Amino acid sequence: MKTQTMTKKLNWAQRNPEKVKESQKRWRANNADKIKENNKAYYKKNKELLNASSVQRHRENRQWAVDQAGGCCSHCGYNKYLGALDFHHINPKEKDLNYNALFGRTRENIKEEIDKCILLCSNCHREEHHRLRERAKKFI
Ligand SMILES: [Zn+2]
Ligand SMILES: [Zn+2]
Repeated sequence: MKTQTMTKKLNWAQRNPEKVKESQKRWRANNADKIKENNKAYYKKNKELLNASSVQRHRENRQWAVDQAGGCCSHCGYNKYLGALDFHHINPKEKDLNYNALFGRTRENIKEEIDKCILLCSNCHREEHHRLRERAKKFI
């Protein structure tokens, strides 16, 4: 009895998830061109956004910050992709620098923060933190 009232409350889609999935699949198959077109439009819009001056400025700022810190990973010299370079705080008790949070500050202020950090690529950064953790263990 109870189940019946429950079933009544559910709409068709909820009662037939398989059929919904099936019809979605069919819709996608029938509208492949439309979807492609939509994706293209989305990509184009994103590309325009990527070219926007604020993004450009952000990248320049990042390049500037990386240059201040030596321009490459201080362990292995990696410098191919800015996004794979992190600012690692020299003092392990301090949090690593999130340069995204820095912009909006003056460059002098940012430079002050960067001076307390070394530049590490993602790989070396992970290794470094692993090393720090191991060292911390030994001291306990
Ligand atoms: Zn490295
Ligand atoms: Zn770090």
